[in-house]
Amino acid sequence: MEISAGAVVFYDGGGEVEYLLLLYPGGHWDFPKGNIEAGETPERTALREIKEETGLDVELVPGFKEEIEYFYYRERRRIKKRVIYFLARARSKDVKLSWEHEGYVWLPFGQALARITFENSRGVLAKAHRFLRGAPR
Ligand code: ATP
Repeated sequence: MEISAGAVVFYDGGGEVEYLLLLYPGGHWDFPKGNIEAGETPERTALREIKEETGLDVELVPGFKEEIEYFYYRERRRIKKRVIYFLARARSKDVKLSWEHEGYVWLPFGQALARITFENSRGVLAKAHRFLRGAPR
């Protein structure tokens, strides 16, 4: 099984919270994430991948962790994948996109939900949004 880790990255400028989505080369919109390397904790992976993919330094919000699983095909082999998502606060919206993605966008909850390609990731965003609304700022 392949295991990746990433985060729902948000920016809270005092108004409506905005969420960061990336456009993957395959054409889907999703959160930043990447493969867990040997000896790395999922939290470390999430922070490293966010930095590599967006240039952002973020802080993980304690208490949020969601996992999804899916299958995809690579060279006609069926691969099972798990992705562990955390919740990460960005202090800036100044994204420096790496070559690994083709675009990015900051969107409020409803528009982010509509933009995300896969249902399982929409579920993660909904949980993150609910978590943040219940938390003090
Ligand atoms: P990573 O960002 O973890 O390094 P990657 O960019 O190599 O991974 P994925 O984003 O997992 O790969 O995409 C691999 C395949 O899985 C693609 O065909 C994609 O369409 C599909 N896929 C990606 N995310 C999901 C999802 N949440 N649910 C179902 N299928 C997905």
